[in-house]
Amino acid sequence: ALQAGIVGLPNVGKSTLFNAVSNSAKAQASNYRFCTIEPNVGQVDVPDFRMDKLAELVKPERIVPTTIEFVDIAGLVKGASKGEGLGNKFLANIREVDAIVHVIRCFEDENILREEGAINPVSDKEIIDTELQLKDLESIEKKVARTEKMAKTGGDAKAKAELEVLKRCQAHLEQGKNLRELGLSKEEKQATADLFLLTEKPVLYVANVDEGSLHTGNKFSQALEAAVKAENAQVIVMNNTIEAQISEMEDPADKEMFLSEYGLKEPGLNRLIHSAYRLLDLITYFTAGVQEVRAWTIHTGWKAPQAAGVIHSDFEKGFIKAEVIAYDDFVKYGSESGARDAGRLRIEGKEYVVADGDVMHFRFNV
Ligand code: GDP
Repeated sequence: ALQAGIVGLPNVGKSTLFNAVSNSAKAQASNYRFCTIEPNVGQVDVPDFRMDKLAELVKPERIVPTTIEFVDIAGLVKGASKGEGLGNKFLANIREVDAIVHVIRCFEDENILREEGAINPVSDKEIIDTELQLKDLESIEKKVARTEKMAKTGGDAKAKAELEVLKRCQAHLEQGKNLRELGLSKEEKQATADLFLLTEKPVLYVANVDEGSLHTGNKFSQALEAAVKAENAQVIVMNNTIEAQISEMEDPADKEMFLSEYGLKEPGLNRLIHSAYRLLDLITYFTAGVQEVRAWTIHTGWKAPQAAGVIHSDFEKGFIKAEVIAYDDFVKYGSESGARDAGRLRIEGKEYVVADGDVMHFRFNV
């Protein structure tokens, strides 16, 4: 499954958010499949009203949502790139994740220590950014040294091209910028693919605000929003304490009431999950049979055989064709046969680019 790593300075509300994630994972366990992975990894279902609607129509034996994993990456402090506070170990954990959820403290509470003094979300963000940039710089510098040798001795054209990209990355980092803003092409990224660079990973920010600012944000979250505008990154305003409380409620009616007391339509966690999903450029297609209605995660732009491969590699290897019904048509005509009778079931081949919400049925050779 895809993983998002939760990072941030100490005492910003990371663990609180992580508890909300893992509690709701546990709460789902009665209805859904659940696997405990590691103490710092929580897997959650991606909520999707379309899946529920399909299940209502098909009445399958089971419903299997798609999932996303959150990893609690604690222990990032100022100086982590130089090994402070087990920094290197934690930085290595970030290499493994697909995206970063950066939690920023936007609440005041004199009982909760902030080492750097008064609340300052922009400076908090920069402290973490700097650590990640220094770590990337270290990786890049090592590779530059290696590649320079190759470029000299062999006169290797590939090494020379790589060196050019690496040096551009180096200069960018030295200016205190994150690599995701450099806009490298897919080809150019090959030069750094083996380094699993940290500041290249897509990021979204959680502004952890006080209860009173849930709907409006506050001066801290607004400062953060202004600061990340250039990055084109999303800021999710939520209160992690409330999220943790919601996640502990087992009775859906209690949950509903609690949410409405705060004027919320859904937990902030749902917004976070959906945003992470979008950040990773993921979409969902469905399979809908009497045994199982199931959501599958793929990347935007994937063609039918590759999408089929998510179910089983044999589906991809032996792919013949796909029967496709758009979600809206499936709902409008109430069933697969209804959609077929209405002429809304399409037969698509190898070149078909799967659309978000497609209800798919694959034909393949074994
Ligand atoms: P971490 O070090 O980033 O993992 O931070 P924690 O999640 O352990 O939170 C640090 C402290 O801040 C704990 O005592 C939390 O209860 C508290 N805390 C977390 N979120 C909020 C919040 O939104 N408002 C307030 N007032 N306290 C919070």
